[in-house]
Amino acid sequence: EQPVIALVGRPNVGKSTLFNRLTRTRDALVADFPGLTRDRQYGVGRLGPAPYVVVDTGGLGEPDDVTYHHMQRQALRALDEADVILFLVDARVGVTPGDEALTRDLRRRGKRVWLVMNKIDGVDADVAGAEFHSLGMDSPWPIAAVQGRGVTQLIGAVLEDC
Ligand code: GDP
Ligand code: MG
Repeated sequence: EQPVIALVGRPNVGKSTLFNRLTRTRDALVADFPGLTRDRQYGVGRLGPAPYVVVDTGGLGEPDDVTYHHMQRQALRALDEADVILFLVDARVGVTPGDEALTRDLRRRGKRVWLVMNKIDGVDADVAGAEFHSLGMDSPWPIAAVQGRGVTQLIGAVLEDC
């Protein structure tokens, strides 16, 4: 009965860092190397009013080749299991073709998706956020997972909406 929250986004946007924040563990692999979190990682957390399950996915928004095929299948299964999807993008990088491809994939699945713009530390969140309007989603929710900025507010809003 705990809501399942899936974290998706192309490599290096900060999924594992956010997972660690949300679960206060170091179970997820955080690395500078894209795609290191190879399989689904589950954790239970309680940052806001109620507990939840978080799934850290890897493998979406990656090149569509054999190496990533297993990861993509795992990640897509995680999306099907989720009640809510947090779609992470990088405030410093802006919109990439991988973000656009993921947007189309997520839209097709018909789940509730929150666009979350990570790495807003040291950037102007309004300026950075404006670029993501081209994805055709709601305005991005600004966070800095590495500091925890905006994360409690985000999870509170997500849980309220479940
Ligand atoms: P993943 O591939 O999506 O799981 O991304 P990671 O969580 O492994 O993070 C990739 C890199 O981005 C790491 O070097 C993190 O320290 C860094 N990172 C994550 N969140 C933030 C943030 O809020 N601000 C900044 N400046 N860097 C971040
Ligand atoms: Mg990761």
